[in-house]
Amino acid sequence: MMDKKKIAVLKGDYIGPEIMNAGLEVLKAATENQNFDYEINSVPFGGEAIDSEGVPLPDRTLQACKNSDAVLLSAIGGPKWDNAAKRPEAGLLEIRKKLNLFSNIRPTQISEAMQDYSPIKIEHEVNFVIVRELTSGIYFGTPRTKSAAGAVDTMSYSTGEIERVAKVAFDMAMRRNKHVTLVDKANVLATSKLWREVVGRIADSYLKVEFDCSYVDAMAMKVISEPEKFDVILTENLFGDILSDEAAEITGSLGTIPSMSVGENGPALYEPIHGSAPDIAGLGIANPISMIKSVAMMLENSFDRGDLATRINNAIEVAINKKVVTPDLGGKSTTTEVTSEIINNIRESS
Ligand code: ATP
Ligand code: MG
Repeated sequence: MMDKKKIAVLKGDYIGPEIMNAGLEVLKAATENQNFDYEINSVPFGGEAIDSEGVPLPDRTLQACKNSDAVLLSAIGGPKWDNAAKRPEAGLLEIRKKLNLFSNIRPTQISEAMQDYSPIKIEHEVNFVIVRELTSGIYFGTPRTKSAAGAVDTMSYSTGEIERVAKVAFDMAMRRNKHVTLVDKANVLATSKLWREVVGRIADSYLKVEFDCSYVDAMAMKVISEPEKFDVILTENLFGDILSDEAAEITGSLGTIPSMSVGENGPALYEPIHGSAPDIAGLGIANPISMIKSVAMMLENSFDRGDLATRINNAIEVAINKKVVTPDLGGKSTTTEVTSEIINNIRESS
């Protein structure tokens, strides 16, 4: 008997459950007869958990996540909890902290089928990921002060904080196209100078990975002018925040982008980058692709089943090519129709 993979499922609020269902159906179809055994532990989180247990991250939810091999989350929050004592989003910060998820990884992929949706002219396939340090840097550094006379923010990084996220990036590159680009401002910032030294040392121990550096201002241009040149982009918290939104924009659609957050040990967490889309909840038209791609990312990165991830991603590609897509991509199909189409494509490819 192969051991069962444990997946904690946090199905979320508004469109959350709609797209999570789609993701789980695709997971089931893609793993059928594939020697991949898993069990789902569905636990409340976010707004749903506030309603049923009074807090966004109940203890039993955290324990279920800690005891899992991977966590799948859809999207949480929304106007229903605007006046809650503790907002659903507080649960998100808490779970990242408690699972020590110090790196956030977002793919930017513009396949042939998606090229028409991009606001920029794409001549080659774009396929890079941004690995962003998530729990340090200027968003956390002290002192942080503000008075009428002036204000201070502090950007600070320890060598250890840089090393651990750099390893995530290089390991990721080993599973991809073996190229890491460090983004910094090493011509000005002391923290960036340290990043270059520390990441340079890590690069020396990954001889198969090509390593280069770019200043963040130049990178802001290159994301648009030559996005096909990158594989893994590694950067600190603030630069990563800005660049990953810029990168999302060039794909042309929020509803197709997954993400992954990783710590040192313990489970990684996979979720779409968008919110719970209260404006379209219950209409059955939410784009499930972001969630389905989160499932594919989980299979590849937590379970070493890149083969299954590829099958899912190819099945998505076929659906987009056939224009079986939801209204956000200009189509007329429902969440259920898109999901069924993707499942059919997976079955046909096996
Ligand atoms: P948050 O603060 O939680 O990120 P937000 O205010 O940024 O939320 P989202 O929930 O991400 O908003 O939605 C932004 C817009 O994108 C909305 O109009 C929403 O309907 C749309 N949208 C987001 N996700 C999807 C999806 N999966 N399918 C279709 N439309 C979506
Ligand atoms: Mg948002």
